[in-house]
Order: sequence, then structure tokens, then C-alpha cells
Amino acid sequence: MPELPEVETVRRGLEPVLTGGRILSARVNREGLRWPFPEGMADRLTGARVDALRRRSKYILADLSTGETLLIHLGMSGRMLISGAQLGGFHHDHPAPAKHDHVVLEVEGGARVTFNDARRFGAMDLMPTATAGAHPLLAVLGPEPLGNAFDGDYLAARLKGRRTPVKAALLDQHIVAGLGNIYVCEVLWRAHIAPARLAGDLSPDEAAGLVPLIREVLTEAIDAGGSSLKDYRQADGELGYFQHSFRVYDREGQNCLAPGCTGTVARIVQSGRSSFFCPHCQG
Ligand SMILES: [Zn+2]
Repeated sequence: MPELPEVETVRRGLEPVLTGGRILSARVNREGLRWPFPEGMADRLTGARVDALRRRSKYILADLSTGETLLIHLGMSGRMLISGAQLGGFHHDHPAPAKHDHVVLEVEGGARVTFNDARRFGAMDLMPTATAGAHPLLAVLGPEPLGNAFDGDYLAARLKGRRTPVKAALLDQHIVAGLGNIYVCEVLWRAHIAPARLAGDLSPDEAAGLVPLIREVLTEAIDAGGSSLKDYRQADGELGYFQHSFRVYDREGQNCLAPGCTGTVARIVQSGRSSFFCPHCQG
């Protein structure tokens, strides 16, 4: 499932193709994905110029010259394919139409952007740009983890008194937007904090200390995604999935990589999701 760094990588990959370009035609091959598409979506996209491509949490937002904003969510398995344009050092010819190509945009200059989503948990919606922040999917979100509003004082205040595991608190999109299971595991490992500890039991310093680690983990992953774009070798022009090097996620039974630690990575299930951690150095 794409997490924030993957979504940011997709946004960066789409930017040179979409920003400033006009959508010459939009083909919508079904009525919706997770939810129905907005009425007349193809007509509302056709002829619009993309003025800016932004990201909020795991949503890509394309501000259009028509005064509307297109919201794109990749869901569980959504993929963006670019063809007919230069991507990194590579040019991908238009592929044959494939199953699960749900939305196809032909962009000025010859590029084609295809939204393919086999599991159909993705979403697209259109709303007035002026009130985009009030969209039901966006209005509930806490601050961006890489933004200025997210700082140590804020996080310490939000975790204070909370009787839920710190893992669950960091996954709570009202507290901080866009953090997913993988990166929360990585952050807690770097912080030497066990995922099952109650959020309210963290000292203010421990809570505040999570903020720079969250930024560090996400920034490293975004940088890795950026190099995957620059050094683009995938055959089909697909954006956003790249090789990760996780330090604790998915490493159950292997040696902890913390310097000097002799522990072994363990896995527990919290709220139906796997938490990987080192019982030795995460207290
Ligand atoms: Zn350890």
C-alpha cells in the first residue's frame, strides 16, 4: 500500500508531465472506484490546465484552471503510469490498454497518464479549489508531518493523557496526517520506544523527540523515491514504488540493527496490523 513517501514520489513524477499542461481528453472507464466518480468527471477535466500539483497526506491534489481541484487517492493498489513522455532518462511508449486502467488522461505535448487500480480502493473527486481543505477526506486531517505546524510541543500535547498505545496514536490521522504502519515502526525503533507503550506514559521529551525522527524517516524515504525517479529503469513508466531499506519493518527474527544491540526483532499484532520492534532496546 502506498504510504506518504510513495505518494510524494508519484506527485514528483507527475509534476513535469502535468503541471502547466492542458488535459486534452479524459477517458473514464467505469463509474467509480471506492466511491462513485463525480458527475461528468471526464467533461470537467477535458480542456483544463493543471496549474499546480500538491500533496496533502496521502492525497494528490491537482489545481485546475477551471477553479476545481482534482483529488487523487491511490488506495491499496493504485498506480500511475506515464507514457509518451520523457521520464528521467527514459521514454515509455504508450502501452496497450490494460485491465484496471480506470482513468486515462491525454495531456498536451503527447503524454498520457493512466490510473490503474486492480483492487479499486483508490478514489478521485473534484471540488472547488477555494474550499478544497473542507473536503470530507481532508478536513479531518491533522498537520502534515513535514510541515511547520507539526512540532515537539504539539505532539507532546496531543499524546498527553492518551490511554492508547503510542503506535496507534501516531497512526491516528487526526493527530498527524499520512503516517502509515511501516514508517511508524521505523520511527519507534529509532526512538527506542516500544510500540505498545501507552502514548500518555511518554515523557514530554520522549514525545517531542519523535518529531525529528518522523521527519528523518520520511525524508530518507522521499529521497530514495527521488533517486528512483532520476534513475528510472522500470519498463512500464510506473511511478512511486521503489526499493526500501527498512531497519526493523518486516525483519522478524533477525538481528536488531541498533549499534551495540544484541536483540532480535519481534512482531506483535496491534489493531490488526503487524508491529515490528526490538524488545531489547525499545523500552
Ligand atoms: Zn535492539
